[in-house]
Amino acid sequence: MKSTAVFLALVLSLSGCLSEEKAYGNAAGYGRSYHSPVEIVIPSNAPSITQQFRRIEDNEHYGLDVHAPIGTPVLAAAGGEVIKSYWGPAYGNQIEILHPADSSGKTSRTRYVHLEDRVAGVGDQVKRGEQIGTLGITGFLSSGFPHLHFETLYRGTSIVHSADDPNLYWVDGEGQITCYDPRKHDYLSTDKFVLIYPVPCK
Ligand SMILES: [Zn+2]
Repeated sequence: MKSTAVFLALVLSLSGCLSEEKAYGNAAGYGRSYHSPVEIVIPSNAPSITQQFRRIEDNEHYGLDVHAPIGTPVLAAAGGEVIKSYWGPAYGNQIEILHPADSSGKTSRTRYVHLEDRVAGVGDQVKRGEQIGTLGITGFLSSGFPHLHFETLYRGTSIVHSADDPNLYWVDGEGQITCYDPRKHDYLSTDKFVLIYPVPCK
C-alpha cells in the first residue's frame, strides 16, 4: 500500500511538472497517419503543438494545433491579403490570408481559427509576423481548449486548394519550427512559400 501511495505521489508530481514543461517546446507525435511524418525540431521557447496534421480518413485533421493562453497574439505566418475575417459556429473567429504565387506559380492560403479577437479585416495587406488576432476558444470545434488551429492550403495545378502539413513550409526548413524574428523575417523574398510560427515564442 505504502509503495503504491509513493508511486501515485510520484506520478502526480511528475505529471504536474510535465504539464508545465509541455506548454513550451513540445510537439505532439503524428501517431498512425497516412501522411508521412515530418521530423519536428521545436525551440524550447515555442508554444507547444498539441495535435499534428492527419490525412486519416474520417479522422482527418487538416492543420496543426498550437496551445497557448487565451489572448496570445496570432501572427501572419507569411505576407498577403486577408480574404476572410468572420465568425462561424464551428470554427469561431477565423481569418484567411491569400499569399502571392511563388516561383512555381502556386498560390497558397493560411487559415487561423478559434480566435478570441480578429484585428485584421478583409482587404487588409498584412506583413509576415504582423498580428492578425488573438488566440482563443471560439467555435464548438475548439472543445473549450485554448489553441490556434492553423492550416496551410496550397493550390497546385488544379483550381482546388488542398490542405498540406504546415510543418513542410517553415522558413528554417522542413520540420524546423521557426519563431518569428523581425530582424530576420520581415524582408524575406516570396520566391518560395515559407512560414513563420504563427504565435510568438517567449
Ligand atoms: Zn485543430
